[in-house]
Amino acid sequence: MAMANGVNLQDGLSCDDLFRNGDGLTYNDILILPGYIDFSADEVDLSSPLTKKISLKAPLVSSPMDTVTEADMAIAMALCGGIGIIHHNCSPEFQANEVHKVKKYKHGFIRDPVVMSPDNTVADVLEAKKNNGFTGYPITEHGRLGERLIGIVTSRDIDFREDLPQLKLRGIMTKIEEMVTAPSGVTLQEANHILEKSKKGKLPIVNRNGELVALIARTDLKKARSYPNASKDSNKQLIVGAAISTRENDKERLELLVQNGVDVVVLDSSQGNSIYQINMIKYIKQKYPELQVIAGNVVTRQQAMNLIEAGCDALRVGMGSGSICITQEVMACGCPQATAVYQVSKLAREYGVPVIADGGIQSIGHIMKALSLGASSVMMGSLLAGTSEAPGEYYFSDGVRLKKYRGMGSLEAMERKDAKNAAGSRYYHTDIDKLRVAQGVSGSIVDKGSVLRFLPYLQCGLQHSCQDIGTRSIQNLKKMIYNGELRFTRRTHSAQVEGNVHGLFSYEKRLF
Ligand code: GDP
Ligand code: 5GP
Repeated sequence: MAMANGVNLQDGLSCDDLFRNGDGLTYNDILILPGYIDFSADEVDLSSPLTKKISLKAPLVSSPMDTVTEADMAIAMALCGGIGIIHHNCSPEFQANEVHKVKKYKHGFIRDPVVMSPDNTVADVLEAKKNNGFTGYPITEHGRLGERLIGIVTSRDIDFREDLPQLKLRGIMTKIEEMVTAPSGVTLQEANHILEKSKKGKLPIVNRNGELVALIARTDLKKARSYPNASKDSNKQLIVGAAISTRENDKERLELLVQNGVDVVVLDSSQGNSIYQINMIKYIKQKYPELQVIAGNVVTRQQAMNLIEAGCDALRVGMGSGSICITQEVMACGCPQATAVYQVSKLAREYGVPVIADGGIQSIGHIMKALSLGASSVMMGSLLAGTSEAPGEYYFSDGVRLKKYRGMGSLEAMERKDAKNAAGSRYYHTDIDKLRVAQGVSGSIVDKGSVLRFLPYLQCGLQHSCQDIGTRSIQNLKKMIYNGELRFTRRTHSAQVEGNVHGLFSYEKRLF
């Protein structure tokens, strides 16, 4: 305790005191008092657990919503040290393929490269480029992996040949004699070295018989350098999560996701304290003991306890706090988010179960508050929607560039045709409900540019916030919460007004 001349100098309230009288508080109702700074912001370590077994370098998770997370978002989240959870408002095959794309992305070795045969044509390469986004294709006798490598076609081979679409690759490919390859068994480091020295764009990996087994792309080496915090598994592949519901036929969906290498599965229910979810957790833990299971959503300790006892590896906390959400209004059920995060985190901590604060995150300050109330990471929808990695096309309205953002409980999302009611299943436990009651709205959000720029801004902001609070790490922040060192104050309505921009005729709010 901070004392001077026998006087207690500790201002504000401890986290326990803040919630002692049982009021429902949310992020805007509270502030964290500043601490003492004896380190620089870039020293702050933001690593924090996502689940019992997975730790993230940045405590940031993208929400399983069909306007937020598919492969592009999940790749960007993982590159920046967070993780994306692929939504399930789609067919199991589509979802599994999105997982596959993330797992395939930027591993040092591309183990299933697209291969062509000498009889393929320039038109085939141009078509493949349109579908895949790359132009470097190794060439084997019949265009299959595992056959003898005889050449490679790259953008330089087909430049200026676009007007000869029927030209066979046999005549224009770079032949094996002129190529640099590496033997299988080569380490990633050695392969990197060869690629650096040869200055080539692609390095095919061949076995003793000269058969193609993998490929390395120069661009991946460059990317690996710029994302030192990327979230990866032991195989150096990016990690990814996927959401499922608790229906019986979701076991098949899960099987497909597991086959495609999903690292963590989220049981997507707005009210997770159900027999369906408990049974599903037990089923997954028994069938796939290595797979991490995030259960939820919950907002009370009693709800949380049931899922903890069933064996979940993390809890998702939030009911009715999402920006697109009308649950509290329609169902009269839910809990202000700061209270929910504090209560559940305090209990879950005793069982070593990390908490994800889900919904209502509108700024860096909200992320910091969620972490300061005990959450180990935050899940975001609206903050990430409208970025170029979010699914959907941009459109213009009154000259403003927008993307769609909608609640998964909005009628629009629940009626998506290819989804077989997957979104609806988040809000209904059985198929018998004929009339759907919306728990979300559908709207639009302004273009935010790329997540690859936005996430570093969030991380940098969090480091500065930790510095103001006086903690060098999120891990230490946890200690400060529970030993009473972290001090809070409640904000009156006028204090909230004071804390925002006020008294100006006009202003521009540029964040980074
Ligand atoms: P290219 O020169 O047009 O082939 O493209 P780059 O080498 O610049 O980028 C290709 C990107 O696609 C890299 O990040 C690869 O890891 C990725 N990629 C994924 N699968 C494949 C594949 O089967 N073949 C190739 N060439 N690249 C792949
Ligand atoms: P946001 O970050 O936009 O404030 O909130 C995103 C979160 O809201 C999601 O992660 C999810 O938990 C929740 N959510 C998504 N769609 C709906 C919906 O239609 N209704 C409700 N009640 N919550 C939703």
